[in-house]
Amino acid sequence: MELELVRWLSDNLPSHPLLRIGIGDDAAVLRWPRDGELVVTTDAITDQVDFLLAETDPRLVGHKALGVNLSDLAAMAAEPVAAVVSLVLPRNGGAGFDAKGLAVELYHGMLPLAERFGVAIAGGDTNSWDGPLAISVTAFGRTTERGPLRRSGAKAGDAVLVTGALGGSILGRHLSVEPRVREALLLNERYQLSAGMDISDGLALDASRLAAASGCGVALRLETIPVSDDARRLAERDGRSPLEHALGDGEDFELLFTAALDVAEQMVREQPLDVPVTIIGECVAEPGLWRRDTNGVLTSLEASGFRH
Ligand SMILES: [Mg+2]
Repeated sequence: MELELVRWLSDNLPSHPLLRIGIGDDAAVLRWPRDGELVVTTDAITDQVDFLLAETDPRLVGHKALGVNLSDLAAMAAEPVAAVVSLVLPRNGGAGFDAKGLAVELYHGMLPLAERFGVAIAGGDTNSWDGPLAISVTAFGRTTERGPLRRSGAKAGDAVLVTGALGGSILGRHLSVEPRVREALLLNERYQLSAGMDISDGLALDASRLAAASGCGVALRLETIPVSDDARRLAERDGRSPLEHALGDGEDFELLFTAALDVAEQMVREQPLDVPVTIIGECVAEPGLWRRDTNGVLTSLEASGFRH
């Protein structure tokens, strides 16, 4: 099976200007652009934990496996360059495909995303076993002249912003991840951002992580948080509020970032992205996660969210 798959990959993986040696040798060789630092991230997703293979188009699973890694490169404001893919396949395949067919479907899910973001699929490894499907992707990016965007640069007084709308990703967006790569690069180039990350485990938990990394607190103005239509739909079914979904659901893969207030206000005025940019609160001196009510009063907010 592995030989057949390697043959399929050699025939089907597109060439890439930076990829000198791809699939078929012992390791891949990439030309590396002279400028910029190497940014590396890796993330594995597993059947039954991150998706249900029996109920999911494997192309979407492939898309997600690469998408979550590109979202982490976006979080660092890094340009994606390449990725390597390790598949651990159920011996008998799944989702109606044999093992090789399943692998091909996963790649069919990854390749359009790789092409859209200029990512070379440089190589990988394929194994099979008597267990569920697991996919591990390692992605390589490079920093721009601005350097990496980190979680640790926020200061009390900075505004806290998000892209897009939050909550309810389980209705589909958790699979059809749209990594905010272009958005992060544009924001980081055009505006002075102080800190940033992607929202993978829910706004509340991730905001508390950004606050902890920056040595400050984050106070959210709950009424300003952009709530997705999915969060509203889900709320109708399960009795939790749309806001609870926006705060606590995982896998939004939007950007959470901070900037000085005047810079943030300029961003909101200019709305430079195809998705909305919204100020949802500010950094405060007191560590932890807070809500600021409409009278300006701070109360503690639970950093709930989806913990892997
Ligand atoms: Mg992340």
